[in-house]
Amino acid sequence: MENLQYTRNWKQENIVVTIGKTKVGREHFLLAAGPCAAENSKQMAGISAMLKDSPVKLLRGGAFKPRTSPYSFQGLGKDGLELLRQTADILNIPLVTEVTDLKHLELVSRYADALQIGSRNMAAYELLKEVGQQSKPILLKRGMAATTKEFLYAAEYVASGGNEQLILCERGIRSFDPEFRNILDLNAVALLKERTPFPVIVDPSHGSGRSDAVLPLSLAAAAAGADGVMVEIHPSPETALSDGDQSLSMENFRIWTERVSHLAQFLGKTV
Ligand code: PEP
Ligand code: MN
Repeated sequence: MENLQYTRNWKQENIVVTIGKTKVGREHFLLAAGPCAAENSKQMAGISAMLKDSPVKLLRGGAFKPRTSPYSFQGLGKDGLELLRQTADILNIPLVTEVTDLKHLELVSRYADALQIGSRNMAAYELLKEVGQQSKPILLKRGMAATTKEFLYAAEYVASGGNEQLILCERGIRSFDPEFRNILDLNAVALLKERTPFPVIVDPSHGSGRSDAVLPLSLAAAAAGADGVMVEIHPSPETALSDGDQSLSMENFRIWTERVSHLAQFLGKTV
């Protein structure tokens, strides 16, 4: 690919990204989990109970939600950040949360250990340039209709700003099949792992839109060479204010952690 700087020619060795005390990349396989959005303190207490004593090393969760409909739950904003931070502190693991707009960058940075740039903002170039200047690690999600090349250019926006603590996340792309919200593109995982030294993780929750697909897709992602998986969980998925259909329940989450950890270990990684 022409004009790409942050390729295997730049670094042959895989990069390890460090978020607080959590490492991602090389032998470090990441399990990340949390709610689609922080909703209230009862829900977050349920999330704590699910994650306690689990191998999950990164809490995910949204406070500023980029929703397709302006009438859908938009996230709790600052209150959501407070709830997410509290939960991460109780669990003693770092927090990644999305920053949707430049105007929230300072606020979100006060609470987050890593900044997520969501699918809808993969091509928000001013936002990418700005987070490229930040000292926090960046979790960059692939645009839902972005080619792998466009995704790689988006990564270059961040890295060329000086921020090489960058994780790429495949989260599914648009397809014609209404059974699934998106189709998880494992081609992209294989290609990104070959072309770049950045850790590549997979989000099978948004990648399929269905909780029953999360486990098989997580296993497939690990087998395809991903450096981790990030999933949505909820203490009562049927009452979730967003993305309940794709959120793992307590019992399914327990099975997921067990099976995915086993496979990662079989592949020579640590979880
Ligand atoms: C998310 O991970 O919270 C999210 C909104 O996902 P995406 O940007 O991939 O749609
Ligand atoms: Mn979601």
